[in-house]
Amino acid sequence: MAECPGGESKLLVSKIREGTVIDHIPAGRALAVLKLLNPPRGARVALVMNAESRKLGRKDIVKVEGVTLTPEQTAAVALIAPKATINIIKNYDVVEKRRATPPRTVKGILRCTNPTCITRKPGEPVKPKFKLVKEEPVTLQCIYCGTIITQEEIVEQLSGQT
Ligand SMILES: [Zn+2]
Repeated sequence: MAECPGGESKLLVSKIREGTVIDHIPAGRALAVLKLLNPPRGARVALVMNAESRKLGRKDIVKVEGVTLTPEQTAAVALIAPKATINIIKNYDVVEKRRATPPRTVKGILRCTNPTCITRKPGEPVKPKFKLVKEEPVTLQCIYCGTIITQEEIVEQLSGQT
């Protein structure tokens, strides 16, 4: 089969009229990213899985029509796909390219895995808060109890949300 280096990913992103294309997602995490985006019912969604990528070997791509990411969603995407490129599409053109950068601190999106952490106590008004201790792979630490949250745990938690 003929290969088209460099042109391939351009072709894949140019087919959406208005919305967001998230490229360079590590293979296997497209569904987790899609869950985070929580597109409105009826939104047109396309998932490309295990596409060739020179950067990652294999990658996933998520395209969602009619959705523009909030800063919170962009941050959450970065936790699952720290090398993702977020393309905002208008009239079939990429009008903005954002890099998903894992935030220094993460509030509320995840829960601490330590069952005795103060943030897990019923009735405690303490919201979970984590600091970024490593970007690759993303590693977070609970600021209250010091528990480390690994990349796998982050992906698992964020994919489990409905
Ligand atoms: Zn904790």
